[in-house]
Amino acid sequence: MGTEPALCGPFLIHRHDRVFESCCPFCGLVCDDVRVEVEASGVRVERPDCARARSLFAVPATGQSRIGGQPVEAIAALRAAAALLAQARRPLIGGLACDVAGQRAALDLAERVGGVVEHMNGAAQFRNWLAFQDSGWMTTTLSEVRNRADLIVFAGTDASRFPRFFERCIDAGSQFGPLERTVITLGATPAGGRGTAHAIEPVDLAALFADLRIRLAGGTGAPNGIGGVPAATLDALLASMKAARYGVLVWNAAELDFPHADLTVQAMVELVRDLNRETRWAGLPLGGSDGDTSASQVCTWRTGYPLRVGFDPAGPRYEPLLFEASRLLAAGEADTLLWVSVFDPARTPPETACPRIVLGRPDMRLDAMGPQDVFIPVAVPGVHHAGILHRMDGVVSLPLQGPSPSALFSAAQALAAIQREMTHAAA
Ligand code: SF4
Repeated sequence: MGTEPALCGPFLIHRHDRVFESCCPFCGLVCDDVRVEVEASGVRVERPDCARARSLFAVPATGQSRIGGQPVEAIAALRAAAALLAQARRPLIGGLACDVAGQRAALDLAERVGGVVEHMNGAAQFRNWLAFQDSGWMTTTLSEVRNRADLIVFAGTDASRFPRFFERCIDAGSQFGPLERTVITLGATPAGGRGTAHAIEPVDLAALFADLRIRLAGGTGAPNGIGGVPAATLDALLASMKAARYGVLVWNAAELDFPHADLTVQAMVELVRDLNRETRWAGLPLGGSDGDTSASQVCTWRTGYPLRVGFDPAGPRYEPLLFEASRLLAAGEADTLLWVSVFDPARTPPETACPRIVLGRPDMRLDAMGPQDVFIPVAVPGVHHAGILHRMDGVVSLPLQGPSPSALFSAAQALAAIQREMTHAAA
């Protein structure tokens, strides 16, 4: 029998020797059917055939702390991080790619040091949140898509950033009997390689959805169509949407990367609302990777706001525009960056003039470290220790296993240790 993994506790659901059933933390689907084998060289994914999971489960169990690029003991790195935060006037606690425990610890630390919290996917998240806060939205879950959706319209995305989306949600049969599905893509290539694709630039989607709303309300849409999509095609698309029994409009805010894309999200949300007068429709905003859904959930239940929150003496302050991370750094309003990124070694911190403290995967490479920059390697939830992560649809939090324990701190432990070093230094 294999060694009992530390920290797995009640979340260990299956074990045969060194083979573990696990949830995968490496994209917003958080697939719950991954089987991994722990070998001498590390963790190997037995199934499914997901290249992203295979590559990211393979992470070393040890790492080297550094200051200014030079190797140091872990305690020295923690003390250097504590000293930087103690002297900072407005630190930015960014990245936030970690599990729920890590995000809670990050908020604790932000509250202590008067920091601002923002996720590395904040630009995409806030395209959704601005629309949601303005008018609300009607969204659905991955299970509902799988079990009920008979028409799925992809807008500006082919879902390829979520490698198993089609396998898990579209190709999987409904639990309620036979279900014929139609897939339509508004974009360059058919999502999942199937159905019909109508080529249109993402920046034109807002006008297209506004036009569909006009047609739906009985008005006359643009006679020449929108963004290269002919008027007759728009009429046919709307007829299909009205005929659906359960339609789902899918978008990925990360791929709507242009100014004021929140208005495109709002146009989609409003079309979904209007379609519900005819039949059943819902939106499905793709996302959730790098723990971004968890981060906004944790911040909301702790402060009432979905990130971009600064901790002032009077309490948490929400500034969805002023507290955008790249603006804070470019304007010099943040004077220290603490960056947490434990899932993907490619998600390194931005270059910035202020000192950086990086809590990263042990295989993260930081090529250009400034003299004050601190790197602390941390364990990966779902590989080295147990944890909890919210799926992209936000309705379930899933347990991560820790099949291959590591001596490294978890992100939560490292953040708590930094706080302790601040307390010791102040005493
Ligand atoms: S699709 Fe995403 S969550 Fe599922 S196994 Fe692949 S990387 Fe992991």
